Amino acid sequence: MQQEFKPREVQPPRFFRLKSALRGSLNLVAGVALPQLCPSCRELVEDAGLCAACWSKLSFIRRPYCERLGTPFPFDSGAGLLSMEAIADPPAYGRARAAVRYDDVAAKLVHALKYGDRLDLAPMMGRWMAVAGGELLADADALVPVPLHWRRQWARRFNQSALLAENIAAQSSRKVAHYALKRVKATAQQVGLDKTARGHNVQGAFRVPERGRAEVIGRKLILIDDVLTSGATIDVCARTLLRAGASSVDVLVFARVVAGGRNPI
Ligand SMILES: [Zn+2]
Repeated sequence: MQQEFKPREVQPPRFFRLKSALRGSLNLVAGVALPQLCPSCRELVEDAGLCAACWSKLSFIRRPYCERLGTPFPFDSGAGLLSMEAIADPPAYGRARAAVRYDDVAAKLVHALKYGDRLDLAPMMGRWMAVAGGELLADADALVPVPLHWRRQWARRFNQSALLAENIAAQSSRKVAHYALKRVKATAQQVGLDKTARGHNVQGAFRVPERGRAEVIGRKLILIDDVLTSGATIDVCARTLLRAGASSVDVLVFARVVAGGRNPI
């Protein structure tokens, strides 16, 4: 059953978000490192980014991990291994990689970027993603940000996935295929839904529009998103691109939920 689009209940006032975003942009334009607050603990830091204490709490994902899903293994049992989950329920995409585990500090970074007051974090987050997705980027033709529905993008002013994609593209000499994928259905937030319900929620939510077809047909694409949770949204996106003629679809996210870790709130 399709659910009604519900705007988020708690959002900072528009003026505040705009002012903060402007401050971030001005810092970048001027190239001056004005004191900023650590987006996680709100300590003063010299450059845009995390303080040393919060940085050390981030959990970067490195091998050994499932070559398909990118989920970390607790110990190294040989190269090229797949997780049980990847074998039992293979995703539509080829490979997924994430820079960090979705834990408290990662969640605060995502939140700070997403709700607009810390656009200056995107280059740092994009750099970590470019490192995590190095092998994927070497093979790819273009990056495809997971799109927001126009109403949500209007409310939020920008799409955080597109912003991350722009930064990764700049660092890897790849293009961003902005028209490849369109969100045609405003879906309810996935939070609080189980895996099956998440799948139903996003069914038919994406489409490759006529103007985006040339960016998709025969191309090796990487879907870009901020967080990978159950993978239901990214799976529908990948299937939509493959059906429209993409030759392959990989996935690169900033943070991924790892079993036993924290879930997005
Ligand atoms: Zn901090």
